[in-house]
Amino acid sequence: MRIPLIAGNWKMYKDVNEAVELAQSLKNVLKDVDANKSEAAVCPPAIDIPGVVSVLKGTNIRVGAQNMYAKQEGAFTGEISPLMLRSAGVHYVILGHSERREYFKESNEMINGKVRMALEYGLFPILCVGEKLEDREAGRAFDIVKAHVTGGLSGIPKEKMANVVIAYEPVWAIGTGKTATPDQAQEIHAFIRKTIVSLYDDATAQSVRIQYGGSVKPDNAKTLMGMPDIDGALVGGAALKADSFEAIVKYYK
Ligand code: PEP
Repeated sequence: MRIPLIAGNWKMYKDVNEAVELAQSLKNVLKDVDANKSEAAVCPPAIDIPGVVSVLKGTNIRVGAQNMYAKQEGAFTGEISPLMLRSAGVHYVILGHSERREYFKESNEMINGKVRMALEYGLFPILCVGEKLEDREAGRAFDIVKAHVTGGLSGIPKEKMANVVIAYEPVWAIGTGKTATPDQAQEIHAFIRKTIVSLYDDATAQSVRIQYGGSVKPDNAKTLMGMPDIDGALVGGAALKADSFEAIVKYYK
């Protein structure tokens, strides 16, 4: 059974004190989450991670990072390694977010290197995939998503796939208030699962959680989570306030 993973991507919001405050609020409001129905994670900016990990210690809320560099250590000014994330208590790491692909020119190859290294160092990657508006309008959505999935997973052995989460995030739906309809999202999620079947096998594909991301809010979370291949959400804007994130994590209520 795939337990939906609701992960909040705080992006470049919340300074060290604000992050601790939000984590404290989440610790209180998410105490009674039904662990059979929902798993919560937060992905704060890197500098906030130690404070957030310390607040959330002993809870079921896992902490993720928003990026990492695909090296263990070295002269890479400004970068953070998987080893450092592990030592800080990080569990998940978002890789290949569309903002990194767009603004930092991350290619499928670079993202694949990060996925490999994350798995090697015991982190659980959340591999982001998704088409831009012009791709969808030109009928290329499936091709782009397939390239992101196959490129991102290249060389990843079958045994490691249960540790991988995929987030389908149509770029046109991120931060825009436009959500893919549940049917549009389900169509791509089913396609992603079929792609994983073709790369591995059916059992492997059934074990992988595929999150939806793109303007997920308290009022659309339940319907999206009700689709057979949608196994959680990667949440941006609505993850910045405890009450809206709580409502999404408790979508089942
Ligand atoms: C995101 O940043 O991954 C995201 C989905 O943002 P939003 O929920 O604000 O659209």
